[in-house]
Amino acid sequence: MATLISCRVCEKPVSSNAKFCPHCGEKSPEPYKDTLRYGLLGFAVIVVVILVFVFVINYLFY
Ligand SMILES: [Zn+2]
Repeated sequence: MATLISCRVCEKPVSSNAKFCPHCGEKSPEPYKDTLRYGLLGFAVIVVVILVFVFVINYLFY
């Protein structure tokens, strides 16, 4: 799905499918890519912590 995003360097509209910005040549113009990746990583860590917590609670009480 192609959407228009703003290049993180020159802030001109770039297709999200573009491998590089056609205006300034920035190789990864997507501004939110890293943020999303770290957000998912943080979410996964939280889920794992909750699962371990639930496992420990079950182990202690049963
Ligand atoms: Zn650009």
